[in-house]
Amino acid sequence: MNNVRTSGPLPVPPQVAEASAQGIISHRSDAFRALLPEVLDGLRPFFGTRAPILPFTCSGTGGMEAAVVNCLAPGDRVLAVSAGHFGDRFAEVARCYGADVTVHQVPWGTAPTAADVAEALRAAGPVRAVLLTHNETSTGVLAPLRELCVAIRESSDALILVDGVSSVGAARFDMDDWGVDVAVTVTQKALMAQPGLSLIATSRRALRVAHEGGQRRYYFDFPRMAAAVEEGTTTYTPAVAVLQGLRAAVGMLRAEGPERVFERHRAAAGTLRQSLLELGMTPAADAWCASPTVTAVHLPDGVGASGVRRALEREHGILVASGRSAWKENTVRIGHMGAFHAAEIEDTVAALGRVLGTTAFPRREVQAPGGHA
Ligand code: PLP
Repeated sequence: MNNVRTSGPLPVPPQVAEASAQGIISHRSDAFRALLPEVLDGLRPFFGTRAPILPFTCSGTGGMEAAVVNCLAPGDRVLAVSAGHFGDRFAEVARCYGADVTVHQVPWGTAPTAADVAEALRAAGPVRAVLLTHNETSTGVLAPLRELCVAIRESSDALILVDGVSSVGAARFDMDDWGVDVAVTVTQKALMAQPGLSLIATSRRALRVAHEGGQRRYYFDFPRMAAAVEEGTTTYTPAVAVLQGLRAAVGMLRAEGPERVFERHRAAAGTLRQSLLELGMTPAADAWCASPTVTAVHLPDGVGASGVRRALEREHGILVASGRSAWKENTVRIGHMGAFHAAEIEDTVAALGRVLGTTAFPRREVQAPGGHA
């Protein structure tokens, strides 16, 4: 049992910690040439792809940046669909590299629908790429990615770049079937390993675009990394210990089986939501798009998230995350991804109930949820 219920990084299972402490190997060794394909092939059912999966040593934001610099040239028109803090970040990264970004803003707490995205695409005109966030960690919302991709494919040949940082490994992701071009995730969330690697699945089309264009880049080059991966290595020194830990984590996920992993997350999210409602609290996400990996819950009027977090930690030894941006003080977020036990989720709700019932909190100005100016 552990007491960290944030949205990551998370404590890793003992098997993962042990595997990453087995001793560093060279990324040019035979041992590494056995390790890398085992890990990347093990991830295929969680990305739903036969396409290359590229391991870059960086955080999730680095992975988003890699997607942008390989697929977009300055001036390229882009539609960014944002339903929260991380959707905004993807748009910002693209803007930072000179893309002409139109943001389709979805109210916080809900997900974009296929109809929304089709309409936004019509309004935006031809675009080079659509940026999507599968699981918006700031609001606890899972987008209906398959439907969004179908809607995009029906009317456009735009590249589909997806932030799957807090979904891959916990929610169904069928990259090849859905027509996703680039899917970015990280080791430190549902994949149950230490922070340090971004794993980026890249369609043949995305690799071709990167080969022919994109923009100036050096470290984050997809084609060169894909060629290195073909040879069982990486372009430059990777986070070897993280890969060793990830091999154990992927082994655990494969042993459990993707379907059971997805169901375990869905069930935990459903139970948590129900318990919060029974406590009289308001989950921030609409029920139809509630995330399987993180639940954001609004606090009663006048109760501040920092006080609740401190009390949970001090009185119960439990760590949760506060909200992001405009939801920072009126929301807490409870993570349920990777290696959690159902009992830990129950403990968290019980502790939250006790904290809200017994502790006096400093008053604060309550900001109405929904905006994030
Ligand atoms: N995208 C999403 C959906 C996230 O949840 C996060 C981090 O929580 C990121 C991107 C950024 O990842 P990192 O902090 O590893 O850069």
